Amino acid sequence: MASSTPAVAAPLVLNPPPYSLDALEPYMSKTTLEFHWGKHHRAYVDNLKKQIAGTELNGLGLEEIIVKSYNGGSPLPSFNNAAQVWNHDFFWSSMKPGGGGQPVGALLELIERDFDSVDALMDEFKQAALTQFGSGWAWLGYKNGKIVVEKTPNAVNPLVFDYDPLVVVDVWEHAYYLDYQNRRPDFVSTFIDKLISWDAASERLDKAISAAASKSAL
Ligand code: ZN
Repeated sequence: MASSTPAVAAPLVLNPPPYSLDALEPYMSKTTLEFHWGKHHRAYVDNLKKQIAGTELNGLGLEEIIVKSYNGGSPLPSFNNAAQVWNHDFFWSSMKPGGGGQPVGALLELIERDFDSVDALMDEFKQAALTQFGSGWAWLGYKNGKIVVEKTPNAVNPLVFDYDPLVVVDVWEHAYYLDYQNRRPDFVSTFIDKLISWDAASERLDKAISAAASKSAL
């Protein structure tokens, strides 16, 4: 082994989900996590590293790679892998064992103000997830002081738009086929009822509100 290579922090890594691979059973099986995280997510990381080796994107942080490779709406080939790495990190942390239930605090207040009820918001979220034709993502977000529902095709993610993501559900078939086959509606309902992490959504909302406040104070 070469001993003279300086230790450099790898900017791109396959982050593990913040729970064990069987922790979301029975709603998302260990087998699904083994394939979805262990194979699909890993492949996005590995392919991205190969794609950017020797290019000006090498050595940049993931979010910078995403924004630069989006290239103003004419994405470079590395955009898809970079955005998919980020989206999957965000998806794993949008769920937790014992998830579901109800949001609380500022998040609940904004939802009730903007949508009347959590159920009405989640109906809209579910519709976004079900009407995303083919592969993609459905997001709860925070935009201009309001809670919003958005959907994106393929790898496209909010970093190239003007809203802060709070929660995402992956509606690529690879997210649910092993557990739910073609039943995307059952998967999305289970995500909402049993898996969603409202804690994560609240934390992200707090950050987005603080960031907006410090921006407007400038
Ligand atoms: Zn996925």
